[in-house]
Amino acid sequence: MKRLVILGGGESGVGTAILGKQKGYTVFVSDKGKIKEKYKKVLEHFGIDWEEEQHTESSILNADLVMKSPGIPDKVAIVKQLKSKGVPVISEIEFASNYTDAKIIGITGSNGKTTTTMLVNHILKNEGLNVGMAGNIGDSYAKMVAENNFDYYVLEISSFQLDGIVNFRPHIAILTNISPDHLDRYEYVYENYIASKFRIAENQTEDDYLIYDADDKDLTDWLSKHPVKSKLLPFSIEKEVVEGAFSLNENIQIITNNETLIMKKDTLALEGKHNLKNSMAASTAAKLIGIRKETIRQSVANFQGAEHRLESVLKIHHVAYINDSKATNVNATYYALESMKSPTVWIVGGVDKGNDYKSLMPLVREKVKAIICLGKDNTKIKEAFGNVVDLVVETFAMDEAVKVAYKIAERGDTVLLSPACASFDLFTNYEDRGQQFKEAVKNL
Ligand code: ADP
Repeated sequence: MKRLVILGGGESGVGTAILGKQKGYTVFVSDKGKIKEKYKKVLEHFGIDWEEEQHTESSILNADLVMKSPGIPDKVAIVKQLKSKGVPVISEIEFASNYTDAKIIGITGSNGKTTTTMLVNHILKNEGLNVGMAGNIGDSYAKMVAENNFDYYVLEISSFQLDGIVNFRPHIAILTNISPDHLDRYEYVYENYIASKFRIAENQTEDDYLIYDADDKDLTDWLSKHPVKSKLLPFSIEKEVVEGAFSLNENIQIITNNETLIMKKDTLALEGKHNLKNSMAASTAAKLIGIRKETIRQSVANFQGAEHRLESVLKIHHVAYINDSKATNVNATYYALESMKSPTVWIVGGVDKGNDYKSLMPLVREKVKAIICLGKDNTKIKEAFGNVVDLVVETFAMDEAVKVAYKIAERGDTVLLSPACASFDLFTNYEDRGQQFKEAVKNL
């Protein structure tokens, strides 16, 4: 029997263990940290060997195949040792894809992956297709492959997952956009990160499709220098395209296989230019699969959106409260502010990742009437915006921030939580931050 060693006992590791066991491997899971109780139970249930808080070399280096969880960098010692011995080290998407004939729609990019993945899944489900959604979202893909027989998979794929592919080949790939992120894992070389994202297309053939943002210069420059085999379907909100998607005036046009689908922009459920792009990308993928126009139109109109991404919480005394806690970088907040249609009380701050707020200045000038800082250290925000916005208030807890916002906001205004920062100073994670915001709003 072949030996499959899995590094990392989280969602993707445990899922891979289940699938590996089912396919006849001897499986061993090793985690340098602690494995969660719920995952231990699953491993015990399937009779899979595991260890935690260590990597025992003698049980790992004898592997025929290794699946490394996306959170583990290549530079850790055990991974280096495996590679120098010539043991293949792959990712979950590579492993699991060997065991399914389903058509794969793979979605990557720096921002918009979750939203676009959920939207594609929503459209396919509405058409009645037998579809599973996985990847960086929800349940493990490998576990789904072990336990289901889906015809389609919609996968949210990070660059780390792509770093561990060999043959992975999505029939339809979506590259939402590229901006610098996670550079600590790419030797601080932006090109390495871009190359990693483009690996989503490396095994595609002429029969496959790559849908991408034609307005993103980093992306198009790369593509012009590194051509791919797949059929290109750009989307743009700046210019017309021959095939793909574009928006002109009040309409969106999706052109695939000599057929055009026209939709009205104002029927889309998701607001903002970034979501217009996400909706265009998702609709193009759906059209390629052969989903009926009516289903696509209805689905993009009634899509609920993902939690913590420009999520409408409540309206109180004609003031709208919006939770965009997932905006952990400046680029995401840029799009949030851009989509604001009324004077905005903006809750911002947290752990600064070396933010440069310059790009936000015009939007803040135009739309923001007050800033509520919410972080342990708000110096940078106060310095950046102190002269731009009349009212800048410091707060150190969510209920305090929301109460202050409530006092400041007037009929017709919007209160927006879009922090542009990570959450770890005052919250467990961005979900916790968003939940606390929603709680505080409901308690007003
Ligand atoms: P990801 O899964 O890639 O992190 P999400 O869909 O979770 O993307 O969105 C993350 C943040 O980025 C949210 O604040 C969201 O409003 C914003 N966003 C969503 N789509 C885009 C896009 N196409 N371009 C820029 N920002 C986006």
